[in-house]
Amino acid sequence: MNTSSRLSPHFSLKEFIASATADRLKIDNSLPDALRGNATHTCEQLEKVRKQLGSNPIIITSGWRNPTLNKAVGGSASSDHATARAVDIRCPKFGTARSVARALVASNIEFDQLILESPTLPSAWVHIGFRKGANRRQVLTKFAGDKTYYVGIK
Ligand SMILES: [Zn+2]
Repeated sequence: MNTSSRLSPHFSLKEFIASATADRLKIDNSLPDALRGNATHTCEQLEKVRKQLGSNPIIITSGWRNPTLNKAVGGSASSDHATARAVDIRCPKFGTARSVARALVASNIEFDQLILESPTLPSAWVHIGFRKGANRRQVLTKFAGDKTYYVGIK
């Protein structure tokens, strides 16, 4: 892997832009050069997340989404995925999405928003976003089939 395809020591551009939906719908989800800085910052923060999770491998299930892809997956138009400032992750070697969320909330990692998503499903994941210098450390839980965002880890 060449240097330019790596966003941080453990995260590649390839996994940051990978999307099964984009593949299926033949959407070109290449990262614009203008967002490379955001993507790099996000992956640098993910290095801290990885370390916090016992240095276990983190799977990015969704990173950057261009507007077409974001719409196709039902993402909010204001989603931080659309500015390369958020990722959806799982860390099965560490534990469930709920245990990942709890560990990150208990850590001193500065994130803007952490959402435990669909915790009752086997595909549960954690959405985590970073806004350089403006992190709110907001923690929410969202259940599948329920539009409400509940405060805290439920
Ligand atoms: Zn997300």
